[in-house]
Amino acid sequence: MIHNFNAGPSILPKEVFEEASRAILNFNETGLSILEFGHRTPMFESVVSEAMELVRELMQLDGNKEVMFLHGGASTQFFQVPMNFLSKDRKAAYLDGGVWGSKAIKEAKLFGDVEVVASSKDRNYSYLPTGYAIPENAAYFHYTTNNTIEGTQMGDIPSTPVPLIADMSSDVLSCGMDFNRFSFIYAGAQKNIGAAGVNLVVADKDFLATGNTAIPSMMDYRQHVANGSMLNTPPVFAIYVCLLTLRWLKKIGGIPAIEKINEQKANLLYTTLASLPMFNLPVPSQDRSKMNAVFTMHDPALEKLFLTRCKEEGMIGIKGHRSVGGFRVSMYNAMPLSSVVDITDLIKDFANKHA
Ligand SMILES: *Cc1c(COP(=O)(O)O)cnc(C)c1O
Repeated sequence: MIHNFNAGPSILPKEVFEEASRAILNFNETGLSILEFGHRTPMFESVVSEAMELVRELMQLDGNKEVMFLHGGASTQFFQVPMNFLSKDRKAAYLDGGVWGSKAIKEAKLFGDVEVVASSKDRNYSYLPTGYAIPENAAYFHYTTNNTIEGTQMGDIPSTPVPLIADMSSDVLSCGMDFNRFSFIYAGAQKNIGAAGVNLVVADKDFLATGNTAIPSMMDYRQHVANGSMLNTPPVFAIYVCLLTLRWLKKIGGIPAIEKINEQKANLLYTTLASLPMFNLPVPSQDRSKMNAVFTMHDPALEKLFLTRCKEEGMIGIKGHRSVGGFRVSMYNAMPLSSVVDITDLIKDFANKHA
């Protein structure tokens, strides 16, 4: 058996893989593949509308929110957000809490002034900055809820005097929060929602109304809303996989149920690592991500042995990002507790043998 701890694209529920593969051959008993199915058909329109409704229900969105499924991955949102909401005579506030956030900052600078309110770059983003002030004249404040590469996750939603924007690519739908406090949320699907190739976007109607208009249609959120996320051919299959994953999440009890399991997984793994002197947890406990656990070994010579052992036991995708080193175990929604139990057993056994 393979346990896939990859940071993204990542594991999805087995039943989602099975149902998605059936739809490739015969979508909803139509005799046609989902890959050849017309997007402007009532049957596919109902795929999109059901997926949007499930997002509303699972995130408990208020009536002032629009839900979109857009092309391009989260990296497209890095520039699409400032293209819509920033201008040369305005500034936006950004938190520089990780590699992904720093990329968002780089892109925003193309469209206006960027004030970085705080940064943890001084220690390779291994902690989350605190005690910063957000300027009242900023067009918006942008941050990353979960820093996928460095393994840090924001506990509380920052309070801001300006519209709040978050990149939730790697922890959306994994834990409860008041999503209605955000003016704009985006998340690439391939970590917690579905297949690569689509972004989930949730935006406040009033905030959207303030956006720039002299931009290309495909970049203009309002045009996507007006066309029900079908301004052009949408990523049909990727959206369908999102629908299947959203149905699965609802069936198992929604965000409250998955949050409990996610806490069990993260607690088990971090407690085990903290109890073994061989391992080092670079992130302070209050900042640790429940989605991506990052750890290193005090003896680098053992790291290779550990990786080999993991591979032998079918534990894949745990090599740390090149900018951090060590290891990263990603435990997104679809990762079962049993797989985390298996890797912690392996970790304990390895520590025993090499102590
Ligand atoms: C993976 C990731 C991205 C990049 O997503 P793409 O879909 O590859 O563009 C951006 N932000 C965060 C937080 C991520 O985890």
